[in-house]
Amino acid sequence: MSFNGTAAYQLKRAIELLKLNDETAKALLEPRRSLEVTFSVRMDDGRIRVFKGYRVQHTDVLGPVKGGIRFHPNVDLDEVKALATLMSIKCSVIGLPYGGGKGGVTVNTKELSEGELERLSRGYIRAIAQFVSSEKDVPAPDMYTNPQIMAWMVDEFAVINQANDFAFITGKPLSIGGSVGRNAATARGGFFVTRAACEKEGISLKKAKIAIHGFGNVGGNAARVFDAEGSKVVAIADSRTGIYDPQGIDVELAHEIKARTGALKDYPKGQKITAEELFQCDCDILVPASMEEVITKDNAPLIKAKVIAELANAPITPEADEILATKGITILPDILTNAGGVTVSYFEWVQNRMGYYWTAEEVEEKLEKLMYKAFEDIYKFKQENNCKDYRLAAFAIATNRIVQAMRDRGWI
Ligand code: GLU
Repeated sequence: MSFNGTAAYQLKRAIELLKLNDETAKALLEPRRSLEVTFSVRMDDGRIRVFKGYRVQHTDVLGPVKGGIRFHPNVDLDEVKALATLMSIKCSVIGLPYGGGKGGVTVNTKELSEGELERLSRGYIRAIAQFVSSEKDVPAPDMYTNPQIMAWMVDEFAVINQANDFAFITGKPLSIGGSVGRNAATARGGFFVTRAACEKEGISLKKAKIAIHGFGNVGGNAARVFDAEGSKVVAIADSRTGIYDPQGIDVELAHEIKARTGALKDYPKGQKITAEELFQCDCDILVPASMEEVITKDNAPLIKAKVIAELANAPITPEADEILATKGITILPDILTNAGGVTVSYFEWVQNRMGYYWTAEEVEEKLEKLMYKAFEDIYKFKQENNCKDYRLAAFAIATNRIVQAMRDRGWI
């Protein structure tokens, strides 16, 4: 995904709607700081490999920046800038006291051993250490990073600073300051938003057929949440295989097979389809939960869903957005729908700073409240301002909050 693509395009629509001047647009569109690093990692065979890493702070006007670290072969500065921009908007949509950040390393983790992955994670933190802290920039997991990686990173940061600063990173294991509910938070938050939107549109979630593209932490948990709430998950897909079963997928069996074999291809029931074919299947709610720009002008015309709940970041290209709008499909935008993850990350940061931890019920209740409030604010703005879509309304509300803080601080 390029910075001048999806993220900047959506932000420019909000800038236009809010009639912001050129200087304000520049302050919003240009990230405040970008760091590019090169660091060495010793491989198991004794060789040294040199990796490229990035950390971008889009804006820290509302507080420290917040956003995940991605380990993926496609990571480059441009993509990290785009994702950091989306994080600013996402945090502001929920009303979190954060700006947006993002980090990443260009790497295929599937080629690394556990030891190599640990040395890569520690090496990356050493390379960006002066750039981050619980008051400046708070990383978290993203694609191909997880609680174990956060644990190595928090440990390396403690070695560098000779002090435990658990609040410097979120998505940690429970044993070292993680929050209950963080792992399933993105999926749970997405469910709350989808339920709220379906209530407005008169769609019953109890009977709804759900198709989920992506079966990692977000997609896998989404399948569990929708299934547990009584919807029928009719299709799932990981990066290689899709499965369609109008009778309903056995979600726990799919999880068991994915955990045991690392893939969905041995799932014994239903019909095998390609991951791409999932987009055309007969469903009421489509949940892209894999990666960006998977819904394009080519497959958008084939989509049959009434609602698309974006659990991945930027899964729909701007061209596809237009096509889906003319088909009357409701899109629940990523910056709201997948904000449950960063919201529980915020709870984790708050708990770390208090040194006092909440129960699962407390986390769930607080998450539900914030997600509903954000949805209601966006719904109201959309109605009152005659906005075409939820995405524009969400960008406008979030951008307004950022601009207000920029004015108050004398930045614009
Ligand atoms: N990587 C996640 C996202 O894109 C979570 C970020 C966080 O928890 O800070 O929203």
